[in-house]
Amino acid sequence: MHIILLGPPGAGKGTQAKVLTEKLRVPHISTGDILRQNVASGTPLGKEAKDYMERGALVPDELVTRMVIERLGRADTDHGCVLDGYPRNINQAKALDEALKQKDETIGLVIYLVASEAVIVQRLCGRLVCSSCGANFHVTNMPPKKAGICDACGGKLYQRSDDKEETIRKRLAVYLSESAPVVQYYEAQKKLHSFSADEDVSVVLRKMLEVIKVYDDSLKV
Ligand code: AMP
Repeated sequence: MHIILLGPPGAGKGTQAKVLTEKLRVPHISTGDILRQNVASGTPLGKEAKDYMERGALVPDELVTRMVIERLGRADTDHGCVLDGYPRNINQAKALDEALKQKDETIGLVIYLVASEAVIVQRLCGRLVCSSCGANFHVTNMPPKKAGICDACGGKLYQRSDDKEETIRKRLAVYLSESAPVVQYYEAQKKLHSFSADEDVSVVLRKMLEVIKVYDDSLKV
């Protein structure tokens, strides 16, 4: 089953997606992660995307959509995937529907993580990301056992360049104008399930799994 995680930056989409994909045994497709990998390795896509990302703006639809369609073309998505960070506007949502239709597939379920601005800013300002495996930590909410080092793989932790307060506010404004309408798009299709992401990560995860289980009864929760 293809699942979309929607919600503002800092709602915990990446963290939840990592656990969900392990449970469901499907790939995690994070457009932000793929773009950051491209920026880090200096590919033509990364060079085009870098400036938009540093400003907290959306990378042009045609670049991101091509990247997602290419990823969905790989065989490991045949039994579904968890999409995190895509679609980010109505244009992308329609392009995704079209791409899945070509494969005779559809979006099964959309999870909407709702978070308050205060929680978002606090989470993102203190977020630390592993440069090696992408695991997320937080300076106070979820500190690593050893400062600057990933508990999971021993990689070096860093702060994302767009996790500065000014850029966070810009990303939130972009989210409200561009991405919020996507919520209505899936609500109209009766695929949307909303959860408060202000709660603890494990509480949100348990609630999400209960809903997913209704759609996929092979899931052990
Ligand atoms: P994220 O890791 O999802 O917060 O994404 C980081 C940045 O990557 C965003 O602020 C955008 O600049 C870019 N980005 C990620 N996903 C998309 C998308 N679906 N459409 C356009 N830009 C995106």
